[in-house]
Amino acid sequence: MTLSPITTQSPRGEGEGERDFQMKILSANFVKSAVEPSHYPAGTLPEIAFAGKSNVGKSSMINVLSQRKGLAKTSNSPGRTQLINFFNINDQFSFVDLPGYGYAKVPVAVRKNWGPMVETYLKERRELRLVIFIMDIRRNPDINDIKMLRWFDYYRIPYLLALTKIDKISRNQTVMRRRVILDSFKRPALTPVLFSAKTGAGRDELWGEMEKFIFEVRNNNR
Ligand code: GDP
Repeated sequence: MTLSPITTQSPRGEGEGERDFQMKILSANFVKSAVEPSHYPAGTLPEIAFAGKSNVGKSSMINVLSQRKGLAKTSNSPGRTQLINFFNINDQFSFVDLPGYGYAKVPVAVRKNWGPMVETYLKERRELRLVIFIMDIRRNPDINDIKMLRWFDYYRIPYLLALTKIDKISRNQTVMRRRVILDSFKRPALTPVLFSAKTGAGRDELWGEMEKFIFEVRNNNR
């Protein structure tokens, strides 16, 4: 089958700062880990999933957004979490931490299972509203990142690209790296959120975007 490049990211652009939004977090709790659909939590809360390479800063982002330091485990040993982890936020929606990819030390059997596990979730989960697709702004997309983006397109899943760890480079480098990454994805028109878990940059902008998908958007394609 051919994978057609349909851009499902919501159009943003001029005046995007107007949507900045600070979500009030009243509760944030781990619900369960899952490998296959029968393990997914029952219920109908809308879901925001987080995807990206191991060590990209996914756990740190979830912790910053939820204002809970230890909600998603943060560590320097990438590849530790190889399951789909569900979190309940405010009893209103769920965060879904998809297992990171591309960590060489993960056993081959686990690595083989990663593709079907994540693809099944993306394909079948009706509660999924939006994927936050995280890239380290200092790294170029590799084959796994490009494959991930193609899944979003193919299954018509709305996604938002977040370029993280921007505190590690200068403003000029940020502009340059942003362009290189979008060009590598062949998506020059995407508007990524520039994020830092260290400084909190991009947090309110990210919430503003997520809020639209949690409370307003119903994706008729799924
Ligand atoms: P995960 O494997 O994708 O969940 O990545 P983690 O959240 O565990 O982060 C991996 C490493 O990157 C940790 O040492 C974090 O402290 C660090 N890190 C994550 N986000 C940022 C960021 O925005 N800025 C900086 N300077 N370090 C970060």
